[in-house]
Amino acid sequence: MPLVNMKELMNIAKKNGLMLPAYNSTDVQMTLAIMDSFQRAGMPGIIQIAPTNIKLTGYDYIAETTKMAAEHYVTPFVLHLDHGKTLDDVRQAVQVGFTSVMIDGAALPFEENIRFSREAVDFAHCYDVPVEAELGPIKGKEDDHVSEANCHTDPSQVAEFCEKTGCDTLAVSIGNVHGLEEKPKIDLNILAEVSKVAPVPLVLHGGSGIPFETIRAMRQYGMMKINIASDLRQAYIRAVAKRYEANHNEANLASVLMDARQAVSDMAYKLTMEINKDSLIGPLATEKG
Ligand SMILES: [Zn+2]
Repeated sequence: MPLVNMKELMNIAKKNGLMLPAYNSTDVQMTLAIMDSFQRAGMPGIIQIAPTNIKLTGYDYIAETTKMAAEHYVTPFVLHLDHGKTLDDVRQAVQVGFTSVMIDGAALPFEENIRFSREAVDFAHCYDVPVEAELGPIKGKEDDHVSEANCHTDPSQVAEFCEKTGCDTLAVSIGNVHGLEEKPKIDLNILAEVSKVAPVPLVLHGGSGIPFETIRAMRQYGMMKINIASDLRQAYIRAVAKRYEANHNEANLASVLMDARQAVSDMAYKLTMEINKDSLIGPLATEKG
């Protein structure tokens, strides 16, 4: 089916008590693996691409291949821009057909973050594309960008930020980190405070490495989108490495990539099922027995 708007996916999630994993893709094999895994889990899903990936292929190429791939599935998918750092990132993604975008002004002072995010929202909403904004920088390594900041989201700023930016979802900093080099220290008390005043669904970045019980506990506080990148990238790299280790003369690239695709799909399926273990619909409820 064609790609769907993030609003539609959020409605499905709300109605069924689901948390939506958003998996970062790097190439078409990963995109297909992620789609396979969602279809297997009987879940709608989010495929997201960060601007750092644009070094490999352009926005138009990513949008076209993802749209084409989605047509082969009965599962609804969203194509989301992860960590749009500039208004140009957002404009390009929206114009080629991404169905959700993020604007990341979290490193800016509060008022500047509001102005910057508002501009992205004004543009994207003209195309009916919802916007995720971020309040409170997230520690750790996000591709080649390292943030040393350790600034939690301030609950007292949340209502004003959401109202003034008009954002549709909000990424929060509650001890979550990017990458696997730092250990997350999740503070559910901050999340509970944020959830009392947040008028929009919340987003968790750096989902890799956080215990599943902790992620599941966030559902009661309005956490609806869980970003996961490192776990899938490691699965891909390790599958390729395993084949090389087994045979240093390996040259059957198609077969190696099929292994990698299966490894990514298995990892994404496992994560999706664990995160939604307590949820109520379809195959999830059936497997729970
Ligand atoms: Zn992130």
